[in-house]
Amino acid sequence: MVTEKSAIFIIFGGSGDLAHRKLYPSLFRLYKSGFLKDHFAVIGTARRPWSDDYFRETVITSLKDYFDDDEEIMQGFAKHFFYQSHDVNDSEHYIALKNLAAKLDDQFEAGHNRVYYMAIAPRFFGTVAEHINSEGLKTDGYNRLVIEKPFGRDLDSACELNGNISKAFPENDIYRIDHYLGKKMVQDIPNIRATNAKFEEALNNKYVSNIQVTLAEAIGVEDRGGYYETAGVLRDMVQNHIMQIIGAIASDAPEAKEADVIHKNKCDLFGSLKEMTPEQVDKDFVRGQYDTDKLGNEKAYRQEDKVAEDSNIETYTAGKLEFDSKRWSGVPFYVRSGKRMPGKASRIDIVFNSNVTELGIKANTVVTLLIERTDNHSILINGIDYKESGQDFIKFPEEGDFDNAREAYESLIIDILSGDRVHFTLWDELRSTWKYIDTVEERWADQQPDFPNYISGTMGPDAAEMLLERDGNSWIWD
Ligand code: NAD
Repeated sequence: MVTEKSAIFIIFGGSGDLAHRKLYPSLFRLYKSGFLKDHFAVIGTARRPWSDDYFRETVITSLKDYFDDDEEIMQGFAKHFFYQSHDVNDSEHYIALKNLAAKLDDQFEAGHNRVYYMAIAPRFFGTVAEHINSEGLKTDGYNRLVIEKPFGRDLDSACELNGNISKAFPENDIYRIDHYLGKKMVQDIPNIRATNAKFEEALNNKYVSNIQVTLAEAIGVEDRGGYYETAGVLRDMVQNHIMQIIGAIASDAPEAKEADVIHKNKCDLFGSLKEMTPEQVDKDFVRGQYDTDKLGNEKAYRQEDKVAEDSNIETYTAGKLEFDSKRWSGVPFYVRSGKRMPGKASRIDIVFNSNVTELGIKANTVVTLLIERTDNHSILINGIDYKESGQDFIKFPEEGDFDNAREAYESLIIDILSGDRVHFTLWDELRSTWKYIDTVEERWADQQPDFPNYISGTMGPDAAEMLLERDGNSWIWD
């Protein structure tokens, strides 16, 4: 059932790419489905001196890339949009923002609720949060702060950022976005586990040989070379998205559906990540950087715009993670992510061993959860749709449920408006995952990689194959 929500959104970075490509289309879907109707307004802020009318035009133009609805519906939606020119360091501008928000709250009867959305460069997150607090923007309704990625680039910078925002907002009002947690399959994993008792019973070191998480892309860095040079795939994909996917599949099943209980289990899991020595990093983590393709048509990473000619940033990584826990000790979690791979893939492959015959499951069965599929053919058993596999130990909870599947951002915005923090990352989780990733980054910083080391359009460096072969395993997506 759809319940209309009331809030004033203040979008810092309202003229930017994320806002136009993700946020406004998602808000429009919520408008069309009735979650947002009469009692909301969106204030876009950025440095440029735009008028409300011009801002609305940019919003409608971007909607037209995704929707073919009547212009009238889009115009009705755009009437809720207002623009405020704003420099993040100027206190006066926050006062103007506060007054505009109060006025719109009266006009739209938005219940004094505020969503402060940081669609702005990460270096401004702390400054903006502090000003929201010090200039008295907070109201007696709810005041929720939404933070985009990246949340720091190592443990120290993440701690500093967290220190700054938590001076202004309590942890319970901070919504750190990891858009993989908005994807339907990732959100459904707890449900799949809860409704398939035999599958859940098999999810431990007695029955699982290894678990593989692959997030592969066919494209290169495109126009994000400048950002990529500050990150690399380990920070950009593994520290957050891959870790959260592992959290969904490998945390202990929570005894209750409350966010606190779910997050505690995830924190416990990340807290049990086995620490690595530098030598272990050499053995268990592979890094790569793409060269041109076989025909020499594509740019190598080092030839991309805003990328240094001698860049040591990795565009591919594969690693073996282990946990020191009763449930998972001895089970390797192989992860990989890369650009310019042969295709796009977002998947979890769970490889069972031969003990599973005890549970009536065929020996060495592989269950694959496809994260990007938008229909209910998203579970494979030994590479074929679960419905045709002849094994019935795992199935999707609700057939046809995918028909109404929401876009990740749409689903996350509903959660923010509902005060549901299940699908956001908590500081304690980030602290553990950054600590782990830092071990790898620190070792890599000490060594000169031999880049580029894989041809565009291939599966990455050979060492990534060896990583599994050494253990007698192999990648399932190949
Ligand atoms: P962008 O460069 O397109 O937009 C940045 C916005 O910030 C613009 O509206 C700009 O006017 C505003 N801005 C810049 N300096 C300012 C200042 N001093 N005062 C006030 N406003 C200022 O960037 P983007 O791609 O939209 O990314 C925004 C945030 O979202 C970043 O933190 C990014 O890491 C994150 N993010 C973006 C994407 C994406 O797909 N674009 C995906 C994930 C996360």
